[in-house]
Amino acid sequence: MSCLRDSISQMDPSLQELIEAIENASTLTLLILSAWHLARVLAVRIVEEALTERAQHPTHWPNCPKCGKRLHSKGFVGRQITSVIGIIRWKRRVGRCPYGCKIGQIAPLDNDLGLLPHQRTSVELQRLGCLLAIFVPFETVAVLLNCLVSVRVSSTAVWHWVQGAGGKAIDRLNRQLAELAAGQLPQKESLDEAIGVLPLLMGADGVMVPFRPEGGKGRTVWREVKVAVLARLGRRSKSNEPQLHQRRLVAVLGDIDVLRPRLWLEALRQGVLTAPQVVWLSDGGVGFWSLYAACFAAYAIGILDFYHAVQNLWKGAKAWLDGRSRKARLWFASARHRLRHGETDIVLNDIAVALKLDGLPETARKALKNLYEYLDTHQYHIQYQRFKELGLPIGSGMVESACKWLIQQRFKGVGMRWSETGFNHLLHLRLAWVNGRFDGLFPLEDSPNC
Ligand SMILES: [Zn+2]
Repeated sequence: MSCLRDSISQMDPSLQELIEAIENASTLTLLILSAWHLARVLAVRIVEEALTERAQHPTHWPNCPKCGKRLHSKGFVGRQITSVIGIIRWKRRVGRCPYGCKIGQIAPLDNDLGLLPHQRTSVELQRLGCLLAIFVPFETVAVLLNCLVSVRVSSTAVWHWVQGAGGKAIDRLNRQLAELAAGQLPQKESLDEAIGVLPLLMGADGVMVPFRPEGGKGRTVWREVKVAVLARLGRRSKSNEPQLHQRRLVAVLGDIDVLRPRLWLEALRQGVLTAPQVVWLSDGGVGFWSLYAACFAAYAIGILDFYHAVQNLWKGAKAWLDGRSRKARLWFASARHRLRHGETDIVLNDIAVALKLDGLPETARKALKNLYEYLDTHQYHIQYQRFKELGLPIGSGMVESACKWLIQQRFKGVGMRWSETGFNHLLHLRLAWVNGRFDGLFPLEDSPNC
């Protein structure tokens, strides 16, 4: 037998069985698993030993929170925590008030260890559970934790962790929004030099999410979540396909007015004031364009999704030129081509001329008038020839898929229905993850950066 296994078994004969399992392992897999089992048992022993030692140190008793008298020890009381290495048990001194105030259990060692009074699982286990919960349902998280680290927890426990961490993420955001409202600009996120020179691309979209009705019973209520994406727009070196770097998402269950400060905060962080070029790319949603006008028009080139513009063009052509007739198709094809190649004026002129025609049916007039106003409103946002020359995308597909991913992948599983609170907690945890701010929610180091 090797020195290490030998000495472990001499130190603690109760581990003999686990060491024999290592000796008897016939395959590499069994060897690894049995060694891991021993390692976990040893890890728990080491932690328990260290905790028992610390519990013997003299205790500095705080004063009673009710009467202010210095607490006394009422002796050692057991404590248990479920962790990634297994269940850890130890005993530590608990205080009591000499005047008998009802103050619950006060254990200074718990405090020193960073434990909260009712905490039953350790932070690194909660972090792992929350990380899994970002991608899979809570029940699956419980199953996966058992598979991955042999720890048994309920899906309700996972749900509580998500509430805790998601709540922290929401508080953090609210603090930052309050600071911004008070005139304090957020710190710009650091960027690689090569990324910092790329255009900053922004866009937003609405995605529907199924919610439980009030009272819990009845039909699903679909509500719109507004999602915005900010990213640096690069190109793949081989294919020259567009590629997003430093992708950041903003999302909110609420209207445009609630989205606005959140998006502005993130835009400042992503360098909207200093980026060499800023681009806003969106489909025809009026709310998002009013947000663009209010916040970004001074900094950004606005691009109306080309396919959205073309769809409207076709609607107008159909109403004007007798449905799907050859005439309608021909005009549509030429107008589409003109739109794409910087001849928007000619398209607008065509429509203006048509609007003056005698005998134009009222429905056609209305459709054409809408089309004219739409193109006219967006005249600066439909200069597709110029956008192409600048190397900018003219379709908002990238924006839409980034937005949809955030919601689709986790919130729209079969039979899923959310409460507003439950949704918000998980949404903010997911946002923290995609935006690279997840670790700040779990203090694993001495000085957490949250
Ligand atoms: Zn007291």
